[in-house]
Amino acid sequence: MTDAPRTIAFIGLGNMGGGMATNLVKNGFAVRAFDLSEDALAKAESHGATRVASAGEAMIGTDAVVTMLPAGAHVESVYSGEIFGAAAPGTLFLDCSTIDVATARRVSEAAAALGFDMVDAPVSGGIAAANGGTLTFMVGGTDAAFDRARPILSAMGKAVIHAGGAGNGQAAKICNNMLLGATMVATCEAFAMAKKIGLDPQTFYDISSVSSGQSWSMTSYCPVPGVGPQSPSDTGYQGGFAVGLMLKDLKLATQAASQVGASVPMGNAAEALYQLLANKGEAARDFSLMIEMLEGK
Ligand code: NAD
Repeated sequence: MTDAPRTIAFIGLGNMGGGMATNLVKNGFAVRAFDLSEDALAKAESHGATRVASAGEAMIGTDAVVTMLPAGAHVESVYSGEIFGAAAPGTLFLDCSTIDVATARRVSEAAAALGFDMVDAPVSGGIAAANGGTLTFMVGGTDAAFDRARPILSAMGKAVIHAGGAGNGQAAKICNNMLLGATMVATCEAFAMAKKIGLDPQTFYDISSVSSGQSWSMTSYCPVPGVGPQSPSDTGYQGGFAVGLMLKDLKLATQAASQVGASVPMGNAAEALYQLLANKGEAARDFSLMIEMLEGK
C-alpha cells in the first residue's frame, strides 16, 4: 500500500500493549506512546517509542491510532474525550482491547460520523504472543478499513482475519472465549471424575485425546500437571490466561447473549463457575486451575 501508515499513536501500554508497541517499532513504525502509568511509559520509551503527555498529544503527526485498554468505558472515554477531537482527517483507528460489542459499534459509528475509518480488532493470545508478535486479530469494520488496518496488525500478529462489519471482531472474540471457558470446565470435570473412578489421568488423556472428547483445552492446555504438552498446570497454574480475564470475557459473552436473546446455558454455567474461582481469591492464576476447584481442593 502506498499510503500505509508509518507513524502510529499507541494508547495503553500495559501487559499486552507494551509488547505490541515494541513490535510496531521493530517493524519500522514510529510509535508515539501514551499511558496513565509512568512505568508503562518508561518501558515503552526504552523499547524505542516516543513518550507523550496525553492521548491528544499522541495524535500529532500520526496516521493511525492503536488502543489497548482494559474495558469499554476506557475506550469510549479516550476516543470521545481526546482522540476524535485531536486526530487529523484520514487517521485510522484500531481498537485492540476486548470490550462489549455494543460499545465497539457505538464508538465505530461515532468515528464514521466524523469521517474516520475504525476497526475493532481484539486479539487471541496472551502476553507471550503479544511480546512475540504472534497474536491472532479478529477484525470488525468495513472492507476499506480492514485493508488499511491489515499492515499494522500484521506487524503485531501471525493472523489477521476479517470477521465482518463493526463489532464483529468483538463478537468473534467473545463467542470463541465462551467456547473455550465451557470446554475447559468440561475437560476439568471429566479428568476429576476419571480420577475418582480410578482411571489414571495419563491413560484417560491417551484415550480421550484421540477420541471424540478431544479439545484444545485437553491437548494443548491440559489442566492436569504432567499430562500433555507443557502448560500452566505444570508451573502451579501461574502465567497463562488469568481466571479474572476469562471471567471478564464470559461476562461480555453472556451480556451480549441476553441483548440478542441467545440461549447460552453452557456459557452461563462457565461464568458462574469462574466467578466462584475468582471469589476464592484465584483471579490472577491460570484458568485451568478450575480442575482443583472441581476436585474440591
Ligand atoms: P493492562 O491493565 O495490563 O493494560 C491496560 C493499560 O491501559 C494500563 O497500562 C493502563 O494504565 C492503561 N490505561 C487505562 N486507562 C487509560 C487511559 N485513559 N489512557 C491511557 N492509558 C490508559 O491490561 P492488558 O492485560 O494489557 O489487557 C488489555 C486489553 O487486552 C484488555 O481489554 C484485555 O481484556 C485484553 N486481552 C488481554 C489478554 C492478556 O492475556 N492479558 C489477552 C487477550 C486480550
